[in-house]
Amino acid sequence: MIIVMKADLPEDSTDLRRVITLSESFPGINTRIHRIQGATRSLTEIYLLGPTHAVPSAPFEEFDCVEKVVRITQKFRAIGRHDAALEPVGFEYNGVDISQDTLHLFAGLCAVDTREHVEATFAALKQLGIVTTRAGAYKPRTSPYDFQGLGASCLPYVFELAGKYGIRIIAMEITHESHLDEIREGLDRTGRPTGVMLQIGTRNAQNYELLKLVGQQTEFPVLYKRGMGITLEESLNACEYIASGGNRRIVFCLRGMKTNLGDPHRNFVDFAHVPVVKRLTRLPVCVDPSHSVGRKAIAPDGLLDVFHVTAQGVITGANMILVDIHPHPESALCDGPQALLLEELPAFIADIAIVREAYEKRRALARSSLGA
Ligand code: PEP
Ligand code: MN
Repeated sequence: MIIVMKADLPEDSTDLRRVITLSESFPGINTRIHRIQGATRSLTEIYLLGPTHAVPSAPFEEFDCVEKVVRITQKFRAIGRHDAALEPVGFEYNGVDISQDTLHLFAGLCAVDTREHVEATFAALKQLGIVTTRAGAYKPRTSPYDFQGLGASCLPYVFELAGKYGIRIIAMEITHESHLDEIREGLDRTGRPTGVMLQIGTRNAQNYELLKLVGQQTEFPVLYKRGMGITLEESLNACEYIASGGNRRIVFCLRGMKTNLGDPHRNFVDFAHVPVVKRLTRLPVCVDPSHSVGRKAIAPDGLLDVFHVTAQGVITGANMILVDIHPHPESALCDGPQALLLEELPAFIADIAIVREAYEKRRALARSSLGA
């Protein structure tokens, strides 16, 4: 059972205290408080844990400070929409508003290789007004003989250059607790010039200790990449591990599924699941066209497959695009064949804008004609 309080209720409100006291007066009931800071409002939810079937809703509904009482019927307790009873609120991080209504392009290096490449990439993003990027320092590779990322040694210049070029968020994969400490240390040493979104890669989609680790901290939001060979429900349960630990700032990323039925793409593109994840959960949804397509193939109409699948995500309401770019893909140490050139970015952005506009028109049409 979830008691949703009216928006912007102060943390020390006596009304909030009274609702908690009443909740805990029922036998076996414990409470857990979740505060969500969205771009325009903050929301407080009280989770009642224990034998809630014996707890009536009416005494809570009488409080002026209570917006509604929601009985949970589905398994995704913290991230779920619960049959549309709960609205998505999104979150604000380092000046960037991320929700089921917004769209951001996180374009950047799959793996950091040189300071020069980082600088060229960030400079190109700045010119295009983009403040969100990706930069891999810790790379879990399929082969132990492949480049494993530069690790902590590149963090000082990555963060410093991010500050120089106005980057507000860097999506960066971590695979171990020590990486989180190294990121914190790197940010401290450089004066916290940027924000970091911790990426959980598909290879760690069910690494429950790692999920608990990123869920128990609330400093950094999390980009969770769907498990490549598990069901959607299993991936959503993995997000529930993060959220139930206390961190609600999660973005769910579709990145294709492992099956040779998707050949010749690297993974079978699963972007039709954007609206499914938005319906089942309150999480903003990201699509990763680079790791799903995995190559720079061009269709007869002149558009790269990466552009086409990005459009498929955006036309169904994706909120974030994670894409590999590189100033010299031929010399990239990881995933060069799928990276867009910096010179291809303006056309990519223009293409996305066309599709986003079409999505917004579709949404407006649905709202007016279908009463959605
Ligand atoms: C990545 O985004 O760098 C990556 C390795 O992706 P995935 O975990 O989806 O394979
Ligand atoms: Mn990659």
